[in-house]
Amino acid sequence: MKIKFIYKIIPIPIFYTNKLPQCVAGASYGPWIKIREYYEDDKPLLKHELTHSKQWYRLFILHGLLYRISKKWRFKSEVEAYAVQASCYSGEELLDKIELYSEFISSERYNLGVTTQHAYCCLINYINNYLNGDIGVIEDYS
Ligand SMILES: [Zn+2]
Repeated sequence: MKIKFIYKIIPIPIFYTNKLPQCVAGASYGPWIKIREYYEDDKPLLKHELTHSKQWYRLFILHGLLYRISKKWRFKSEVEAYAVQASCYSGEELLDKIELYSEFISSERYNLGVTTQHAYCCLINYINNYLNGDIGVIEDYS
């Protein structure tokens, strides 16, 4: 178990365990996180899950509820988390990760009803606007 801090002061315990649903590498439960043991050194994954913990602390229990009932909310939450995760990479690797994460976001797993292209555009847009920027111009995806 490790402790990481979000917003500099809020401690988040990280439990490394294989007690997770199949095919899940990590999961944020809000105030704590579980990461599959195999991924213990995967910092981008940890940042993804810490982003979900931040989302939880922004709204407390309401985030979990909205995440379950609203596809729009779940989409926004995952785009933010995957954008943070992708931003751990640079150059070609960054673009490869954005493609991969777009496929994840648009997969059955999240049941969001969005295309891979839409997820890709939103990820690029998020990174350009809120994170390190400079990936390039992206077409209108509305
Ligand atoms: Zn996520």
